[in-house]
Amino acid sequence: MKTVDLVVRDAAQLITLDEPLPAEGNGVDSASLPVVPDGAAAISDGKIIEYGATSDIAAKYKARSVISAAGMVVTPGLVDPHTHLVFPATREDEFEMRNMGLSYKEITLRGGGIHASVRKLREMSKEELVEKSLPYLNSALAHGTTAIEIKSGYGLTTKDEIKTLEAIAELNKRHVVDIVPTFLGAHEVPVEFRDNKEGYISLLINEMIPEVVRRGLAEFCDIFCEAHVYNIEESRRILLAAREAGMKLKMHADEIEPIGGAELAGELRAVSADHLVAASDAGIEALAAGGVAPVLLPATSFSLGLQKHAPARKMLDAGLPVALSTDFNPGTSFTESQQFTMSLACVNLKMSAAEALRGCTVNAARAICRDGTVGSIAPGKQADLVVWNIPNYKHLGYHSGVNLVRFVIKKGNIVARNVNTVKGT
Ligand SMILES: [Zn+2]
Repeated sequence: MKTVDLVVRDAAQLITLDEPLPAEGNGVDSASLPVVPDGAAAISDGKIIEYGATSDIAAKYKARSVISAAGMVVTPGLVDPHTHLVFPATREDEFEMRNMGLSYKEITLRGGGIHASVRKLREMSKEELVEKSLPYLNSALAHGTTAIEIKSGYGLTTKDEIKTLEAIAELNKRHVVDIVPTFLGAHEVPVEFRDNKEGYISLLINEMIPEVVRRGLAEFCDIFCEAHVYNIEESRRILLAAREAGMKLKMHADEIEPIGGAELAGELRAVSADHLVAASDAGIEALAAGGVAPVLLPATSFSLGLQKHAPARKMLDAGLPVALSTDFNPGTSFTESQQFTMSLACVNLKMSAAEALRGCTVNAARAICRDGTVGSIAPGKQADLVVWNIPNYKHLGYHSGVNLVRFVIKKGNIVARNVNTVKGT
């Protein structure tokens, strides 16, 4: 009998998501999930050794410690593939102004919007940003997120973008959650370049991107591709420069208008295209043809009070690996809970619980190129698991607005626990 560090056992449902990733554009049966009833997982050195029925795992492995998941559900740790988690201050007044009917323009005139965050971030030190961000990471972890992508984009100068990316690197060192860094210098056109967008694009291409790459601070380059920010032609130039420099590509695409962002993501074979609320049918075809993962952000539509939602069903029908994310940011989606995202995905995107869970695990991992290590429970993968105080996985999304986590396990260690959950029966 082999000895392992930990066995998590007796789960009413062990949901591994250990399934072949779809080939580009060819999806798995999105409505079904591989479930191991009365399941267990053996863990050593922070990795999954094997999973199976509890009786089989118990017969094969002696455990130094044991976690009972009796009556509960075990899934992979959640992955959040699109956040702006490092920011200088909250913007709750803006949320209220929006709810009172003020337009984006009026809110900007009263000092809100991205530029408000930019102004404040430029005044802050890297250390201040790190200290402000750590509690949000703790909160994301407490809600089940064990890997997360974080973007820069509130600096918009070489110095302030690098400061933000260095803060993200420091967070990755200091926090157990795995962090994937993305450079989003093209989040907006900074006010000092308002009448000289070309000048800022030139700064992005000739100075910021090379410097970020030279310092090894970002794996991805992202852009806010929208008619009033960076149009298709400008986005193509910036993204091609980033790809040339060695970064992988992401896009904020077709959030407001169907200007062809999804088509461009397909053309450039970006890793992901995000938002896509207004994506056209041709855009969805282009995502499939280019092997692009769609990342949908229903919490943003919620926060903005939008009645229009991303065409998730069309994407699922096209076989796309639909991922979900919080879009955690101080302006348009102030939630660090992927559980909340799952609820909104079920109700507003008309996704099944299985599709929503896949969107927050295996498909989310794929959208940040981490599907080799996280997002599913499989031999050799990181032992990142959530034990949920729910009787079956369909309570994810259904039992909403509360934290259903019992334990979060990161690389084989319990890193968060929540005793105040009530299991619906
Ligand atoms: Zn975003």
